[in-house]
Amino acid sequence: MACMQTDRSEPAISIRNLAKRYAGAKGEEGKLALKGVSFDVPQGGVFGLLGPNGAGKSTLINILAGLVTKTGGEAEIWGFGIDTQRRNASRSIGIVPQEIVFDPFFTPYEVLENQAGFYGIPKADRRSEELLEAVKLADKRDAYARTLSGGMKRRLLIAKAMVHSPPILVLDEPTAGVDVELRRQLWELVQELNAQGVTIVLTTHYLEEAEQLCDRIAIIGNGELIANKPTQELIGMAREKIVRVTVDKDLAGPVMEDGFLKTEVTEARTLEITYNRDAMSAGQVLGVIQQHGYTVEDVTTREADLEDVFVQLTSVTGEGA
Ligand code: ADP
Repeated sequence: MACMQTDRSEPAISIRNLAKRYAGAKGEEGKLALKGVSFDVPQGGVFGLLGPNGAGKSTLINILAGLVTKTGGEAEIWGFGIDTQRRNASRSIGIVPQEIVFDPFFTPYEVLENQAGFYGIPKADRRSEELLEAVKLADKRDAYARTLSGGMKRRLLIAKAMVHSPPILVLDEPTAGVDVELRRQLWELVQELNAQGVTIVLTTHYLEEAEQLCDRIAIIGNGELIANKPTQELIGMAREKIVRVTVDKDLAGPVMEDGFLKTEVTEARTLEITYNRDAMSAGQVLGVIQQHGYTVEDVTTREADLEDVFVQLTSVTGEGA
């Protein structure tokens, strides 16, 4: 992959106080979709932009892509300001849109050649064959786009975004509405491109996708940045833990105690307790149950995952409820 800059200490993308207010209907104030968001995307990783529907993810991506005009703040792509150096900024980024739109009568090879022409890439420097190979469409080189499966079309979109060898690839909801098998294939492709040195940014509302694929995650909710951390650190932020306990006799009812956030009798002899791990340990939870006269026969704990963190963080801003 072509790299125009090799200084890893510089961010791939830098966003400062980015704001967007859409135009409102006559006499009304429009929607404030981004309320002054700031963060950096480091070079070389897979960066996830996570948030519930309506959070402002697409707005942010579309500003970077030059499709939406920001109403405040600054953004640099590969060191190029999106206002002052738009051409270089655009050349540094490949965007894979959410919707699939191709002229049905073009072949994959033609789609890539046309895109190369759009960027003014001389014939000798084009990489259409290599890209078709990379997205496993070499055998469909000359098929009409309309005959491709949904998965093939998505892979072709990724190849199209890489035609000008950008150091950054942005995927907007790459696996929305695709089946499990195709999702795995797309994840593999993203990981291969990343291994070749391409910085990846993806938006998603699938927590599993972010957890599996991204080494760093920013969460936005309601137009604001809520978190921006390495994935493992973010998951470690979960305060709540859940322990499921089976006891020796039928439960008279839920056992409540200070420090328990929620208890639920799920079966006659099984109790699920959600507790604040900062306030008590699993051992203390079991101690409380014993004090109520039960003998603990079986215990399982569930580790927090990204979903727990996501629910906790986004509920603070009134999102995700
Ligand atoms: P996400 O991609 O996270 O689902 P969006 O960026 O699409 O969120 O939307 C953020 C907010 O801005 C939403 O409230 C949405 O309704 C609003 N919005 C998006 N596009 C437009 C538009 N073209 N005009 C007016 N409001 C818009």
